[in-house]
Amino acid sequence: MAKRDYYEVLGVSKGADENEIKKAYRKLAKKYHPDANPGDKEAEEKFKEVGEAYEILSDAQKRAAYDQYGHAAFEQGGMGGGGGFSGGFGMDMGDIFESFFGGSGGFGDIFGGGGRRRNGPVNGSDIQVGLTITFEEAVFGCSKEISLNVTDTCDQCHGTGAKPGTRAETCSRCRGTGQETVVRQTPLGSMRTVTTCSACGGSGKIIKEKCSKCGGQGRVRVAKKIKVDIPKGINHGQSIRKSGLGEAGVNGGRAGDLYIEIRVMPHKRFVRNGNDILLDVNIDMIQAALGANITIPTLEGDEVYCVKAGTQPESKVILRNKGVWNVRNNKERGNMILTFKVSIPTKLTEKQKELLRSFSNPDAEPQKEEHRGLFGKKKK
Ligand SMILES: [Zn+2]
Ligand SMILES: [Zn+2]
Repeated sequence: MAKRDYYEVLGVSKGADENEIKKAYRKLAKKYHPDANPGDKEAEEKFKEVGEAYEILSDAQKRAAYDQYGHAAFEQGGMGGGGGFSGGFGMDMGDIFESFFGGSGGFGDIFGGGGRRRNGPVNGSDIQVGLTITFEEAVFGCSKEISLNVTDTCDQCHGTGAKPGTRAETCSRCRGTGQETVVRQTPLGSMRTVTTCSACGGSGKIIKEKCSKCGGQGRVRVAKKIKVDIPKGINHGQSIRKSGLGEAGVNGGRAGDLYIEIRVMPHKRFVRNGNDILLDVNIDMIQAALGANITIPTLEGDEVYCVKAGTQPESKVILRNKGVWNVRNNKERGNMILTFKVSIPTKLTEKQKELLRSFSNPDAEPQKEEHRGLFGKKKK
């Protein structure tokens, strides 16, 4: 599931100061607090989300990392990573509630005990971009180039963050674990919490001489041009995945994937329905009655089509294998489905009217008015 932007979660602007963040957090945390919403799973999720956003945005260092790298800066190596923010909920809810409404400060401390391990490999985030193509490009396939800004492993230090020729040293404070245990005195007794190492910021490493290109982060923002081959038959809303072209991972984590969501512009005549192409064909009453050779557009260009005599309005004809190629199997094609739209003349000369009347059953002569009415109705 995609994570929401932390600023959005708290409903504050990117430039919000410490106080605004704190105020927004207090308001939301009160609103979604589990004690105020017993049994409400959604509120509990919201409460966690708000807490997590506050944990990051209330800490200048974490906030800076978030601003630069987004969620990728804090992501766990995998599902089984343990810890994480929710770890804080192992505590008795009563304790949280207490310090929550009673205390004047130190709100964030409740959430400081997540025990987040940040020195392990962290996978890069996936990126999703939209790409608009024409109807024809979708049908026949095409090749496109997209430009995007992504976080990539720094090529100067190869992701270590250390100046080339130097090495990152293991943090002496946490001995490389990235965590430290803090004992706090609270009105309820002493509380041991595992928190991110304050010396190394959780990386477990200290970089003495930072890489000049990435400033020790090991990753840099780069503008990339990526070539995308769009397969024949792709449809609106389908995505193409480019494995490993998302944000770079940290500490040996794998890079995220790039998802390109295809948007197809409508065609002026064809309507696509799965792999079938729907086409309305306009013919007049005479062509419908007598049959005619007409020109219709197809994916292969204009073709002559023979309209059968006696074609009924709204009747359909299926042209097999004239539709779109199956995107997963190009040997398969959909059909083209023609729907005949028969136009009835609205302006007739007296002579034409007479001729049309001559088609009528002579027995129906007294009901002349009714026939006239048929065209009369259309006229309105
Ligand atoms: Zn670097
Ligand atoms: Zn450390």
